[in-house]
Amino acid sequence: MTNCEIIAVGNELLQGDVLDSNTHWLIKQITALGGHVTRASMLPDALGTIAAEVHSALARQPGLLLLGGGLGPTEDDLTLEAVASALGLPLQRNEEALRMVRATYRRLAAAGLFDGEMTPAREKMAHLPRGAQPLANSAGAAPGVLLQAGTTSVVCLPGVPGEMKAIWTEALPETLRNLFGTSHFAEIEIRVACADESLLAPVLSQVTRRHPEVYIKSRARRLGIDLAFTITLSQSANDRQTLDAALTAAREDLAGSLQEAGIALLPEGSTR
Ligand code: ATP
Ligand code: MG
Repeated sequence: MTNCEIIAVGNELLQGDVLDSNTHWLIKQITALGGHVTRASMLPDALGTIAAEVHSALARQPGLLLLGGGLGPTEDDLTLEAVASALGLPLQRNEEALRMVRATYRRLAAAGLFDGEMTPAREKMAHLPRGAQPLANSAGAAPGVLLQAGTTSVVCLPGVPGEMKAIWTEALPETLRNLFGTSHFAEIEIRVACADESLLAPVLSQVTRRHPEVYIKSRARRLGIDLAFTITLSQSANDRQTLDAALTAAREDLAGSLQEAGIALLPEGSTR
């Protein structure tokens, strides 16, 4: 299982101006690919803070370290400088990145939106840590960045959600395939009418002991005056059949054990 860490960068996130929806989206993508997000943090646009976080993330050797935000042309966009500093690499003009940035402004100029000139601010977006690879951004100007740090693939994405998603879906599939292989993730839900989670707890721990490969979790849902619980069973595995068989066995075991404990299952699709 590939461990992943995510760092979201931006003062606006920590001031409550913008909700960090990027991290949520990325976590969903990674989980669906069979990866495991082990940590996610939000940091201000502060060079030393970002560099220190990158440094400590790399010490944990995740397979993938994602940084979002701070790739733009303004002086408070410091992510690449921080990554370079954490890795002891210089920031260098990257010719391929420069071609990407130039092509974007040419396209925008042709559409009558901007002038197409390269300026120092625009060129800034083509300065990458030495050895990094730029990732084409079809929705904006700043290329994403991919670089290898030991066993960790470091990926930097822009903060604008549309740009982040464009790079993820268009420029990263091969990298993601290499990282996550053919791993699969699946999740099923059981809903129970039960107002007291402490009654569920012993049943869940018995079933978990019998199916250690399946992650079993209960979540409260207050519905009207009743409290109902949704129990999710989830697992990642390399082989789809193994995954389905393990989840089905755990679900049957859980359903039987709940009934034995006198806890009623709610029918699927029930609105309670
Ligand atoms: P650009 O190249 O467009 O300047 P950038 O990498 O510099 O991108 P930021 O300046 O950090 O990105 O963020 C741009 C905008 O993207 C923010 O004002 C905010 O609206 C949105 N944004 C940034 N981070 C997030 C996030 N984690 N979740 C949702 N939206 C975000
Ligand atoms: Mg910016």
